[in-house]
Amino acid sequence: MRRVSILGATGSIGQNTIDLIRRDMDNFEVVALTGGRNVALLAKSAIELGAKHAAIAEDALYQDLKNALAGSGISVSAGKLAIAQAAAMPVDWVMSSIVGAAGLEPGLIAMSNGANLALANKESMVAAGGLMKATAAENNVMILPVDSEHSAIFQALTGQSKSAVERVIITASGGPFRNWSNSELATVTPEQAMVHPNWSMGTRITIDSASMFNKGLEVLETKEFFEIEASQIEVLIHPQSIVHALVGFHDGNLLAHVGPPDMRHAIGFALYYPDRKPLPLNRLDLTKIGQLDFSEPDQNRFPALKLAYDVLELGGVAGAVYNASKEVALDAFIARHIRFLDMAEVVDRTLHRLFGTACELSTEQSLDNIIHADHMGRTIGQEEISALSA
Ligand code: NAD
Ligand code: MG
Repeated sequence: MRRVSILGATGSIGQNTIDLIRRDMDNFEVVALTGGRNVALLAKSAIELGAKHAAIAEDALYQDLKNALAGSGISVSAGKLAIAQAAAMPVDWVMSSIVGAAGLEPGLIAMSNGANLALANKESMVAAGGLMKATAAENNVMILPVDSEHSAIFQALTGQSKSAVERVIITASGGPFRNWSNSELATVTPEQAMVHPNWSMGTRITIDSASMFNKGLEVLETKEFFEIEASQIEVLIHPQSIVHALVGFHDGNLLAHVGPPDMRHAIGFALYYPDRKPLPLNRLDLTKIGQLDFSEPDQNRFPALKLAYDVLELGGVAGAVYNASKEVALDAFIARHIRFLDMAEVVDRTLHRLFGTACELSTEQSLDNIIHADHMGRTIGQEEISALSA
């Protein structure tokens, strides 16, 4: 019996996790589920899984959640603190699938209370990789990657000597605008960016995939997870999204991880780790795929990727600034205050202003420093958004 909680249970990763647990209820005891705003889905999921507790992030939704779960015996709470308290409930395994920097503290709290952390929330690793790993080590728990590329690398590295790794290649579909010119990219609307050619995911990561910010975040996540140099991390455009990552060793051998674009493979791997359980998911039929293509990403058309490598050079809390300024730029793009290409411009300008000459941000990755860097990234990012939208 494994006791589990899901943070961000109403999202795409959360619901895919629930889909796997629902098929194997005898082996899981579900403790807490959290959601942002979707009361109906949170309540439905909590009842279905027989959860002990449900927490919703929005204070004002407390009564709605209480009503939805009346008579179920499931306790309820609401607000930011309620999410933290739900994360602290003792369990063996927590899925960290809140989107954005909001997922950082709940993940840290879960590990501090002894849970192994299945990490979909890549922003935690980008903003605070050092702190995440230190917290895991102090509490003797694991961080299991759920991002498909990182799950792929993790699996390819199992049983291998880390010192023999020469390079890691992560793939990117290239998104819906892979072949668009700069002048075409200037016209992209939020609706166009919300459609991914291969993966079905939350709105924000889908737009990040279209701008390649998602791949930028994943380059930083790769560095933190696998502790390799920037020069060892490569990105390849691979429109079919079948090969998720490859690991190359000093002897020239290259191991690829191959699978259909269905997050339940990576989630299932983390859910049952270190065992492998039979999962009722579609098997890959390579004859139906026929062909696999690879090419170099164009960093001129997709500057988000180049910026990520700049952030790798800067180190310290630069990842927190990159992510925070990207989050406000993404909000501004969704609200139509800035254009698609302006998102990278906002992040570029924010990084320059905060790290250009005399940097006043401490490089030490304490939680306070990371929260401060995140705050500064949002504040300066917002100023640059105002300048661009004026
Ligand atoms: P989503 O938008 O579908 O779901 C996000 C979840 O977080 C929802 O439950 C939402 O209610 C909750 N949430 C949002 N803001 C919150 C807040 N301030 N406080 C508490 N809860 C909040 O997103 P998703 O696609 O499931 O992605 C979740 C995370 O997993 C992201 O970090 C994303 O980058 C990562 N990820 C997703 C996929 C995918 O296929 N969807 C793949 C790899 C990595
Ligand atoms: Mg990914």
